[in-house]
Amino acid sequence: MTFPRVRVRTLATALLIATTAAALLPSAARAQVRTADPAVRGVPLTAFPRLVKLTKHVYGYEEIRQPGFTTVSLIVLGKDGVLIADAQGSAAATQTMLDRIRAITPLPIKWHVVGSDHGDHTAGNNVLPGGLTWVVHPTSLAQLKRDSAAATAGRAVIVPPTAMTGTEQTIDLGTTQVVVRFMGRAHTGGDLMVHLPKEQILFMSEAYLNRVFPAMRSAYPTEWARAIDAALALPRVKRYVPGHGFIEKAKRSREELVTFRDAITSVIAEVKRLRALGLSQDDAAKRANWGDVGTWFLADQQGPIAVRRVWAELDGTLK
Ligand SMILES: [Zn+2]
Repeated sequence: MTFPRVRVRTLATALLIATTAAALLPSAARAQVRTADPAVRGVPLTAFPRLVKLTKHVYGYEEIRQPGFTTVSLIVLGKDGVLIADAQGSAAATQTMLDRIRAITPLPIKWHVVGSDHGDHTAGNNVLPGGLTWVVHPTSLAQLKRDSAAATAGRAVIVPPTAMTGTEQTIDLGTTQVVVRFMGRAHTGGDLMVHLPKEQILFMSEAYLNRVFPAMRSAYPTEWARAIDAALALPRVKRYVPGHGFIEKAKRSREELVTFRDAITSVIAEVKRLRALGLSQDDAAKRANWGDVGTWFLADQQGPIAVRRVWAELDGTLK
C-alpha cells in the first residue's frame, strides 16, 4: 500500500510540529499532568512547603508528607485574626506552617477548624496558640478524646473544648464570611468543609483526595460519594480545595473532584463484584482490579482496607 507523496509529507510535517510543540512546552503547561506525584507533575520537592494564593485573603498551604504527596491546609486572613482549617502531621510541620503565615501577616491565629481528625492533620496541634476558637464536629471531638486517652507520652493530642452544634456555623472574619459545613459522613465521619461563598471556594479537607486512592479506614463509602455530590451541588462554589494532592485551578478542581467521586463509586462497585463471587475478603483484596485508580498514590496500602470497609458497609455492620 502506498500513499501519495503529498500525504506522506503532510504526515511527517504534522509529526514534526507535534514533537517540537511537546519539547517546547513551558514547565507551567507540563505541570498540568493529573497526578498527586510532584515528580510527575514537574514540581521539585524543594518547592514545598508552599503557600498557594487563592485570593487576597485566602491561601492554601501544601506540605509534603510520606510517601510523597501533599497535605493541604487552608488559611483565611481576617480583619483581626487568622483562621486555619486543618494543620499538619507533626509539631515541626505545623510550626513551619505558622512561621510561613507569620511571614504574610502579623495577625494572631484566632480560629481553628478540624476538617479531618486524623493524625496527619492534627498531630501538630499542640503548637497552635492558646485561646483559639475551635470548630470541630462532635464525631471528631469524640475521636480526638479517644486518641488523647490512648496517646503515649510525648505525643499529646489536643482536644478542643466543645463541638459545633448543627450542620453549619458561620464565622465573620471582617474581610469575609466563612461557613463551616458538615455535608454528611465521608472520610472520617466528622468531616467538616470550609465554604467561602464570596470567594466561591470550598475547602473539603480529606473528603477530597486529589489523585490519592480513596482511603477508607474510617470512611463511610456510599455516604462519602453522596457528600461529594452535595459539595458539587452547593451554590457559590467554583474552586474545590482538597486535603491531599495538588490545589487545582477552578475548572480542573471540579473535574478532579468528579474523578475522585467516580473513584469511590468504582471501588465500591469492584468490591461488590468480588463479594458476589463468593471470595473471602483476603482473596478479594488480592484479586481486586481498581483500574486507573490502582495507579494512584496509596493504592497498594489502601486497596485491602477499602475491601474490608466496603464489605462491612454491604454487611450492614458500619454504624
Ligand atoms: Zn490525611
